[in-house]
Amino acid sequence: MPASETKSASAVAEIPEGSRHDLRHDLSPDAPETENYSDEAGAFGYVHSYETGSRLDGPGVRLTLFVSGCPLRCQYCHNPDTWHLKHGVRIPVEQVITRLGHFAPALRAMQGGLTISGGEVLVQTAFTGRILRAAKSLGLHTAIETSGFLGARATDEYLQQLDLVILDIKSGDPETYRRATQRDLEPTLRFAARLAAMNKPVWVRFTLVPGLTDDPANVAAVAKFVAPLKNVEVVEVLPFHQLGAFKWKALGVEYTLNDTPPASPELVARVIGQFRDAGCKAR
Ligand code: SF4
Repeated sequence: MPASETKSASAVAEIPEGSRHDLRHDLSPDAPETENYSDEAGAFGYVHSYETGSRLDGPGVRLTLFVSGCPLRCQYCHNPDTWHLKHGVRIPVEQVITRLGHFAPALRAMQGGLTISGGEVLVQTAFTGRILRAAKSLGLHTAIETSGFLGARATDEYLQQLDLVILDIKSGDPETYRRATQRDLEPTLRFAARLAAMNKPVWVRFTLVPGLTDDPANVAAVAKFVAPLKNVEVVEVLPFHQLGAFKWKALGVEYTLNDTPPASPELVARVIGQFRDAGCKAR
């Protein structure tokens, strides 16, 4: 066992049940920066929290695991406390798998399964890959929610463990995407095309932020890209809200959307209509 694992083994914590809206701060101060992290064996991983009973993160009733680490910086992020690994808890993968085993009979009975979200799941491909493999061996439906920015890290074997990919396409216009996330759109589109070539079931998510992502041309660009993809089962339009604003303040990070209103029902209806007019199933 490497020295780092010996040291960390003495600092093992319990996987934190809670809510995606709970603030996590500095729980693993010695963790590497997300961009320097090498998730080789996946024996341990950094976890924000897990929720049970969600009906929003895939079909049926879900156990949703939120992992730490994200390379994007979305202006509207509800969980900026998942950007850095150091804010999560370092957990042995076996502990997650054991806990999953306890929930598996109920999840199977409720036609649900496991969804891993974040943060960005593909920062920790070895850790999350082991959990997904275990979930499949327990007979569970499996899903990840991802921005797709690190899609190239997911091997075909990794993707084979997935029944569903919930793919956030945060904008269709590359400049808007960069303004919204500080990253490039192209890797996400490449990942979407790869999933389409595999015929992997996908739900696309689009976060609707007034004044940032709501431009009709920006929405039309997402719709035009998605409409021909036969593997996309639905487009979900997520209206922006201010629920995560308190986290930015608590973490001392400048929040630029203080004056942005929630997306109105009329705006949501217009955008859903744009997707439907383009030939997408949208809700
Ligand atoms: S990809 Fe998700 S976790 Fe990462 S910054 Fe964007 S909204 Fe936040």
